[in-house]
Amino acid sequence: KKFVYMFNEGNSSMKELLGGKGANLAEMTSIGLPVPFGFTISTESCNAYYDAGKKISPDVQEQILQALARLEQTTEKRLGDPSNPLLVSVRSGAVFSMPGMMDTILNLGMNDETVEGMAKLTNNPRFAYDSYRRFIQMFSDVVLDVDVFFFEQLLEEYREKHGYTSDPELSAEDWQEVIAGYKKIVKDRTRKEFPQEPKEQLFLAINSVFDSWNNQRAIVYRRLNKIPDHLGTAVNIQSMVFGNTGNESGTGVAFTRNPSTGENVLYGEYLINAQGEDVVAGIRTPQPIATLENEMPEVFQQFAETCHLLEQHYHDMQDIEFTVERGKLFILQTRTGKRTAQAAIRIAVEMVEEGIIDKKTALLRVDPDQLNQLLHRRIDESYPRNQLAKGLPASPGAATGAVVFDADEAEQLGNDGKRVILVRPETTPDDIHGIIAAQAVVTSRGGMTSHAAVVARGMGKACICGCEALKIDLREKQFRIGDTVVNHGDMITIDGATGEIMLGEIPMIEPQLSEEFQLLLAWADEARKLGVRANADNPEDAKKAFEFGAGGIGLCRTEHMFMDAKRVPIVQKMILASNLEERESALAELLPMQQGDFEGIFEAMQGFPVTIRLLDPPLHEFLPDKEELLVEVTKLQILDPSSTELMEKEQLLKKVRQLDEFNPMLGHRGCRLGMIYPEIYEMQAEAIFYAIANLADRGLEVKPEIMIPLVGHVNELKEMRQLVIDAALQVQEETGKEFDYLIGTMIEIPRAALTADQIAEEADFFSFGTNDLTQTTFGYSRDDAEGKFLQAYIENKVLPENPFAVLDQDGVGKLVETGVKLGRATKPYLKTGICGEHGGEKSSIEFCYVTGLDYVSCSPYRVPLARLAAAQATI
Ligand code: PEP
Ligand code: MG
Repeated sequence: KKFVYMFNEGNSSMKELLGGKGANLAEMTSIGLPVPFGFTISTESCNAYYDAGKKISPDVQEQILQALARLEQTTEKRLGDPSNPLLVSVRSGAVFSMPGMMDTILNLGMNDETVEGMAKLTNNPRFAYDSYRRFIQMFSDVVLDVDVFFFEQLLEEYREKHGYTSDPELSAEDWQEVIAGYKKIVKDRTRKEFPQEPKEQLFLAINSVFDSWNNQRAIVYRRLNKIPDHLGTAVNIQSMVFGNTGNESGTGVAFTRNPSTGENVLYGEYLINAQGEDVVAGIRTPQPIATLENEMPEVFQQFAETCHLLEQHYHDMQDIEFTVERGKLFILQTRTGKRTAQAAIRIAVEMVEEGIIDKKTALLRVDPDQLNQLLHRRIDESYPRNQLAKGLPASPGAATGAVVFDADEAEQLGNDGKRVILVRPETTPDDIHGIIAAQAVVTSRGGMTSHAAVVARGMGKACICGCEALKIDLREKQFRIGDTVVNHGDMITIDGATGEIMLGEIPMIEPQLSEEFQLLLAWADEARKLGVRANADNPEDAKKAFEFGAGGIGLCRTEHMFMDAKRVPIVQKMILASNLEERESALAELLPMQQGDFEGIFEAMQGFPVTIRLLDPPLHEFLPDKEELLVEVTKLQILDPSSTELMEKEQLLKKVRQLDEFNPMLGHRGCRLGMIYPEIYEMQAEAIFYAIANLADRGLEVKPEIMIPLVGHVNELKEMRQLVIDAALQVQEETGKEFDYLIGTMIEIPRAALTADQIAEEADFFSFGTNDLTQTTFGYSRDDAEGKFLQAYIENKVLPENPFAVLDQDGVGKLVETGVKLGRATKPYLKTGICGEHGGEKSSIEFCYVTGLDYVSCSPYRVPLARLAAAQATI
């Protein structure tokens, strides 16, 4: 029976036998990638090991030795050969990845002799001894069960004794002394010498991997993840390659396409005569991959071909770690590369054009949430840029903010709504919270693949890396560029697309959508069945919505037209009116203003449907705050007791008190306003019809959808519907125009959803107002809950998500389903949509599609996201 497979004897379908990692290595080898050669001992061998009472049977042993011989032949190196030693890594590899089951052992094969060989080969004794001591420590910990603590303690004492503060200060001789100490630890603890014979090392390591299948961590992990115990683990033995064996060697990281812009060019960096750690450590500055073409033309050629092969095979952009050992290229790792939204779109679109993927796959390649990045601003080029310094353009986008040097502070200020830019020598995972809260990140060290760059790109945040001109003084909380000192709190502006840092604030302009973006969205429009509209209350927003591809307006909140500073006094006059006559005269002043807004919106939407909602909020929202008014009145009573101002203010206060409600969100608002003050709704309806009549004269045909908010009982809608019809007839009589319009309602009260069959009798359409529906279904105040308890609920997992952002499908969603079902039982073709915040959230959009709604409506900036999410819902 075959227990051992060379990497070129397997493929990705053999996971069960070779484990995930082994099958992957085999696949990469079999498609012709230059992977460092090796072999995999199968999961069946693991079971055989246990069946035989934790022993590797002679048969398996024999096969391992044969595989080793083939490995030696292929690599032209020999295990234990001091002149050209083969060193290998040993890794476990279960069918399902089990992180932390067994630590990897690197550089197996090192001993007192081969370390000398490595010192000579790399011409770097310090590196060789350092690797050897790491190997002893790792092997002893994982295989011989000697706790790392002993090694760390010894090293610490050694450093202290010699006055070193960090490991790089230790010389080759120092490491030799440390090695002697390490070997003594092993002898003291295990009563045996550290194994010098490489084959003995190998078999001990293999035994140890098999044993790790049943260590405590692994058993617990399997139980948690329901992984069967009988699967066993494979063992992967892979030859080590070294990029630090002279000027014909090197190591690097590269992407098959530019992860920042998506451009189809190799992108990355490398270091000649270096190991992976050197790139990460940032001691030497890596070279851009393009220069490899001059330095090692053949290697570059092979590298370019390999990248092509990888993309053809994996159908996506890859992020590759590679090493060149004496002129020979090796791919150490490849995985799908992280990218900016801009790059994701360009790559997806170009891969369709190159025939690598189809349109549906392309649509799934872009996360709707990522699109936000693209809709961000850029610096207005018509203003001068006072460039202070230039770093690497690590993540596009522009930002302005106050300089801070500490992630905690960035988080604190960011949460207070302040704009800050986090400036650090470099970032680590400990800084994540600060990066999230900051507008942008700037580092003085590190390349395009550094932590800050990768994280910021993923978040769509502007980032500049490796700006070495920046001399950061963390203690003084300032940085210096040449003679300029920038202090903590000073404003700077950065351009992540060019890498420039500027002093002060520079005006920004709104983004435009790239050609690829438009194309991808056009494909999304072809694929989707759900309509996408926008919520917009003024002509500018409507224009933006139209530009972003909205197929109409799903919600125009007319109260926003009342909130204009010039109009508020008239609105107040209307509210304060003591009789109908006074109220009507105020309304007559408001009418032309609303009419003008409607005309602007209709024009911007060029004939697309526009849903206009009649007044919704409680009237006190248009009046001054009660407490403030009281203070003013009291002041006037003392200072100027006979003034008319006092009289007016007192009257206002009286009205404010009259309108005061304990629970205004459940109070006199929505259609309840229209029921009690029909003249308000009449004015609004008339303004709509006058606007349409006017536009008709200019040749634009408009079909409005007039929407009545907060209906809970069919009788409310019945009465309001008649009111709108009467207004239309009246304007028709005056203007001689006939109107084609719909009258519908919002479904945002549970009772409306539950009696939707009755309500549909009076409605031409439903629009689910999931903001209020969430408020009333949960009984959570939408204005208070988040700050008071909702955050804690989400943190403690009482609720999976914030229901005001992500639709609660189990509860609120059930009411939506019920509303649609009952409504359509009455009117099979009843038009249905959603206009709460959820209309711009991807999982809620998918729910709307599945529930059979006709459209979603969201803020203009989320329209592209919604178009893509709606397409993904159908795929
Ligand atoms: C809603 O309640 O979901 C809605 C869209 O209306 P508003 O947010 O204006 O209450
Ligand atoms: Mg509402």
